[in-house]
Amino acid sequence: MKPISEMNLLEIFTIIFNKKNKISCSKFKNIDLKSLYKRAYEFYCINTGQNIYDEEKIYNWMIEKSSYSFLTLLLDVKLDYLLEKDKFMFYNLPAMINIMHEFLNTCSIDKSNITNTQTISKEKTNSLVHEILKQIDPSLEWLKIYEECRKNNKIIYINEYNEDQLKELAHKLYLSKIPHEDSCICLPNNTHYIILNYKNNLYDTISTIHEFIHYIIETKSIKKPLLLTEFFSIFYELYSLYFLKKQGFDLKELTNIYQNERIRDLYMIGLEIDPLFKYIKTFVEKNCISFEDDFNYYVDLLEKLNKKNEDNLSPKKLAYKRCEKYIISLLNNDFFESYPYVIGSYLSFEAMSNLNKKTLEKIKGFIDSDNIDPYDLFKFVGCDVEKLEIKRVGGEEKTLQKEKRQ
Ligand SMILES: [Zn+2]
Repeated sequence: MKPISEMNLLEIFTIIFNKKNKISCSKFKNIDLKSLYKRAYEFYCINTGQNIYDEEKIYNWMIEKSSYSFLTLLLDVKLDYLLEKDKFMFYNLPAMINIMHEFLNTCSIDKSNITNTQTISKEKTNSLVHEILKQIDPSLEWLKIYEECRKNNKIIYINEYNEDQLKELAHKLYLSKIPHEDSCICLPNNTHYIILNYKNNLYDTISTIHEFIHYIIETKSIKKPLLLTEFFSIFYELYSLYFLKKQGFDLKELTNIYQNERIRDLYMIGLEIDPLFKYIKTFVEKNCISFEDDFNYYVDLLEKLNKKNEDNLSPKKLAYKRCEKYIISLLNNDFFESYPYVIGSYLSFEAMSNLNKKTLEKIKGFIDSDNIDPYDLFKFVGCDVEKLEIKRVGGEEKTLQKEKRQ
């Protein structure tokens, strides 16, 4: 599909109103909704002979005319994409949304920033990583891979680079922008690099383990569902935290670091995607999102608050504002980029709360098996799959037929 800037208005309008033209998921990132509406409206005007110069009118007209049908269309398109990419998630969507909603609500942030952290040198971090790798893989294979990575400069410590060197690095690694965050990347020639931005505290050990696990899974090219792309990294990250606590590092400091780095992320994701869950659930149930639902919600809300909201907006305006916010969120793919992270965190916390001698062996077993069924993992970490209404998804045709019959 062409980028939006190269599309003619007919194509844009078709996208907005014709379900047959599926919207690809990445091409619409960072789009300005106002200009999308404007171009579609201009097209409409040219074809109907109306005046096209009143921008405010254009915007209001498009919002009322198309917001909710556009949101419905986007949900439809995105769920098709989900079916293609992650069948387990698709067929378990209401259950997964309930899990994520409840889990995200337990993530609160500690307002204090990281305080009084002891300085941990790169050498010390390296030796702690060694200790942890010995624990999680007693065969020492992973430790060997880690050492090879270091020897072959596959681990890049970007905190040691200056601005010019970073630019050069970005160019060398085909990155669209200068790297700032920890990541594991794959170049077009299929070589992998680990990028780390050390903070010279205990978090460096945790982030090294996190990215190294991505490296292990990606270089082993293990088939894994999209849903589980973050699980293993987060699980071993939590295990590292547990290991450091056992080593006698300051509990308060470790908790504070983890709160600031990971829990804060989850909390922010929750703010962004939690309200979207309602729309997704409604769409799954009714196949349509209507203005009336949102409107009634805001009428009730304002009545309950028994006063006008700060911006003095009517329920109608609030409804359109909310709808637009989630159109942009869907266009930006927020939900798809966040759910593996949220589910991965949830499963990791569950696994850690039932940690026993067999846990590490079993989790590594999941990595080594070439086809991981998320259902087995949910059961293994101790989830009550029946109570949570999680279904095993396998034998795709059978499941599809069953869905159709319902
Ligand atoms: Zn990750």
